Amino acid sequence: MRSLRAQLSLTIMLVALVMVALISLLSNLFINRRFEKYVMEQQEKKTSYIVDNISLQYNELTRTWNHDTVYTIGMYALHDGYIIKVRDRESDVVWDAENHDMEQCRQLMEEISWRMDQAGNTGAFVSAEYPLQQGSRTIGTVAIKYYGPFFLTESDFSFLNALNVILLLIGVFSLLISFVIGWVLARRIAHPITKTVEIATQISVGNYALRFEGQTKTKELDHLTSAINNLSEALEKQKQLRKQLTADVAHELRTPIASLGSHLEIMIEGIWAPTPERLQSCYEETMRLGKMAADLARLEESESDNLVLEKTPVCLMELARTVCGNFAGELANKDLTLTIAGDESPLNLDKDKISGVIANLISNAVKYTPKGGHVKVSVRDTERESILIVEDNGTGIPEEEQPFIFERLYRADKSRNRDTGGTGASGGAGIGLAIAKSAVSAHGGTVTVQSRLNSGSRFIVTLPKE
Ligand code: ADP
Repeated sequence: MRSLRAQLSLTIMLVALVMVALISLLSNLFINRRFEKYVMEQQEKKTSYIVDNISLQYNELTRTWNHDTVYTIGMYALHDGYIIKVRDRESDVVWDAENHDMEQCRQLMEEISWRMDQAGNTGAFVSAEYPLQQGSRTIGTVAIKYYGPFFLTESDFSFLNALNVILLLIGVFSLLISFVIGWVLARRIAHPITKTVEIATQISVGNYALRFEGQTKTKELDHLTSAINNLSEALEKQKQLRKQLTADVAHELRTPIASLGSHLEIMIEGIWAPTPERLQSCYEETMRLGKMAADLARLEESESDNLVLEKTPVCLMELARTVCGNFAGELANKDLTLTIAGDESPLNLDKDKISGVIANLISNAVKYTPKGGHVKVSVRDTERESILIVEDNGTGIPEEEQPFIFERLYRADKSRNRDTGGTGASGGAGIGLAIAKSAVSAHGGTVTVQSRLNSGSRFIVTLPKE
């Protein structure tokens, strides 16, 4: 099987070859035809010139011929390939080239015949007789013998040869140029395809690091290369997520399971009495682990879901209002007030995912704000982006922990957290913000935090309007 590049190069070269051959052949044919016509016209002109000129050499008054000029005309004609014989009114020969120089005439005829035979012509010497006239009077005849239907002189041949050489050179030159262009073009088309195949092969063996660099300048090829790039990027991200998740889960589970194990062991060995409080604490730990497992499943689902967004035109302000409405009960329970203000901000987004993000931020604000506190939601609309801000005057987050709160399974100040979350079973596993961040990133946006311990926190979600 031939490679695409070889096949393309060969096809382009073949087309070029056929085109150049065709053009050379046709132009050669047409030029030759045209030239033959031209030569025939010249021949006609020349014979009529000879006839007219000889006619002038007869003096009617003296009834004599100007033999010297007739001789000159005859010799010039002979030199041009015309053998003439002039007769007077009485059919007596006035001048005959063959009589004058038999040898030269024979040589000339041989030479012309040979040249024309060489060029593939199958003509022969023909003789035509023309009347010589002065006014309406006939003063004699001239017989002109020449190679018919036409013949080419030596300079005609050298002109045609030079033309053929030029045509050949143009042919060779254009062939070379088309070979080079064909080769470059084939390379330009074949290279991205070969590279894409290479990337796809690597993907099939689990290596997602390869990417197609640069642009192809061809729309379809660009689509192909960006599709393969997106595919390997998505797979790489998935692989990374899986790896990270396994590491996080192992890390997060190891400590509580070890402590649970050691507590139970101590009780089994009878060192500790299995009091209801101790058993309750162990029970809470198992519930927390169970919740964590459920959250992890949710996270995995959301992260793979985020690769596909179902965007629709939505007003961010309206969406925030709807989500806030769902928190009426919780707010009342904790005696919190919530205000919502700002601009109407239309943009395209995945409604469910962004609702989830807003719900998570408000739920955190509610969770980490003590009784009587305040939660403020605002929306800002700019030309390029929509901004959603969720503020509270709750516990705040220590500065050193702020960079990590969007990471999976991260909980700031774990002891404080458990207090806030109440029982272990309902306490956060540090997954909500990770899900929120991944949903916002999938939209090409960012989520950041500004917070001061014991003063409150402000979460800022920025979503681009494409
Ligand atoms: P969780 O389920 O633990 O709330 P999140 O991912 O939603 O997990 O939050 C991660 C951590 O960030 C929380 O454990 C908490 O310590 C901190 N946090 C998030 N929102 C707030 C807030 N509004 N006020 C104070 N701390 C917060």
